Amino acid sequence: MTAAFRIIALFLACWLLLPLSGAAWGFFAHQRINRLAVFTLPPDMVTFYKKHIRYVTENAVNPDRRRYAVEGEAPRHYIDIDVYGDSAIYKMPRYWQQAVEKYSEDTLMAYGIVPWHINRMKYQLTEAFRARNVDRILRISADLGHYIADACVPLHTTHNYNGQLTGQRGIHGFWESRLPELLSDNYDFFVGPAAYIEQPQLRAWDLVTSAHLALDSVLRFERELTQQFDEDKKYSFEVRNNQTVRVYSSAFSRAYHDKLNGQVERQMRLAIQTVASFWYTAWVDAGQPHLTGDISEEERNLLKMEEKEYDKGPHKAREEGEASLPPKQLQQHMVLCCVREED
Ligand SMILES: [Zn+2]
Repeated sequence: MTAAFRIIALFLACWLLLPLSGAAWGFFAHQRINRLAVFTLPPDMVTFYKKHIRYVTENAVNPDRRRYAVEGEAPRHYIDIDVYGDSAIYKMPRYWQQAVEKYSEDTLMAYGIVPWHINRMKYQLTEAFRARNVDRILRISADLGHYIADACVPLHTTHNYNGQLTGQRGIHGFWESRLPELLSDNYDFFVGPAAYIEQPQLRAWDLVTSAHLALDSVLRFERELTQQFDEDKKYSFEVRNNQTVRVYSSAFSRAYHDKLNGQVERQMRLAIQTVASFWYTAWVDAGQPHLTGDISEEERNLLKMEEKEYDKGPHKAREEGEASLPPKQLQQHMVLCCVREED
């Protein structure tokens, strides 16, 4: 190989490494939240959910996978509340019908519907419990857990969902994937037992509100730290699945995590406790049916089929996992990276 060719090859290789992997709460956090929610359930529910803990854990990420395959799936994961103007987090009608009357369904769908969708899923879960339909109970439990967890993520409540409007592209996956993957082993996940929710629709809004109030710190601390870290200290490279990927360095991640002062942990704990409480509330509202039975063969086959369909769907989800650098810095970074490779 000539030197020039090697440099070009390395340049290309560096280019390919740049995208960061990551999706809502990361697969890791979503699975952990659904799994841990099981252990806070009351005795009449916990045996059934423990028996199916693998199902609710593994399928915690289905709604994200479905975003490519199912029309109308994407807006269920977020609400860009700030597009509705000042104090919209307090002024937005809490119930779907009133919100539709005020803004139209098209507008609501365009900017996300997560708090209303949580309430809708809660209703469907209650119906599934009433019908004692094990397939639907488990399917909706796993999905509902996902949407509740998403509503606890500050960047799921803003139009600036990936820092793309403030020069912080990549922050979405950083907060909800990189930080918990790197640092959640030390979190305290003992949350209180599941508790009955009197007004599920309002509770869903409480989640969105608390997440949205945390947004300012999420963006500000990253911006402040970026000024303190050189570019090559902010990012590093890791090998995952035989691919080298660019990630936020562990020093930068730790510094950010420290500044956030337990915020990721608090939001994860909130998600775990709320997921369990929604499952419990649906079960109580259905008359506390005795839970027994197994997933049907049809459902297992359906899941396998869906899994194949998920990844090749025509609907492009909006970008949340990538950390692209501005072109100039990008080039500098690539040069650095190539020099290191040459050494
Ligand atoms: Zn999601």
